[in-house]
Amino acid sequence: MIVYTTEHGKYFSVAESLERDAHSPRGLYINLTNRCDNDCVFCLRQTKQMAESSSLWLKREPTVEEVECELRAAPWDLIKEVVFCGFGEPTLRLSELVELLNWIKREHPTVPTRLNTNGLGELAHGRVIAPDFEGILDVASISLNASTAEKYYALTRSSYGIGAFEAMLTFAEHMKGHVPTVVLTIVDKVSAPDEIERCRQLCDARGLTLRVRPFEK
Ligand code: SF4
Repeated sequence: MIVYTTEHGKYFSVAESLERDAHSPRGLYINLTNRCDNDCVFCLRQTKQMAESSSLWLKREPTVEEVECELRAAPWDLIKEVVFCGFGEPTLRLSELVELLNWIKREHPTVPTRLNTNGLGELAHGRVIAPDFEGILDVASISLNASTAEKYYALTRSSYGIGAFEAMLTFAEHMKGHVPTVVLTIVDKVSAPDEIERCRQLCDARGLTLRVRPFEK
């Protein structure tokens, strides 16, 4: 699925979502790629054994036109937020991501937009990409995962190695200058309380906001 909704950890196409409930507001999720430059030990692609059998696994990456076609059919009066998320890392398709965010803000300017990202887009593209999101992205949710570079690397097994942690934090700082809300996230069941506290102290020291989010089964 390219465009989908979620409910209690399950994924539904827009048509299925409307069959289940034709009236309640809901988030709309956009899935651009399976690719990721991390290999997290807790990634849904591994732990849910969904991978290629999942409805979220893309046989090929959609074009901007294909995504826009699906978006045009969405029930926009029920959409409370559009989230770029999915199985892989959206910023690996940066130009398509930015083009689609522009489309959403042009066609539906009152609907908030969010990017769920591993925060490694500036490493992937070799430049500062935060200004690309100016005026088109409302919330950047960046996976912090851990309080130190060593713990981060042990969890994410990033293809960039130990330096990925600092690059992710720097990206978050860059995004603060261009996106209204920037949050760093950790997962409650993955992190012990003392590790969550260390993450909070790290974020405080760097002027960043931490959100502890529930583990998705
Ligand atoms: S960053 Fe996200 S998509 Fe990539 S491996 Fe980690 S959990 Fe999976």
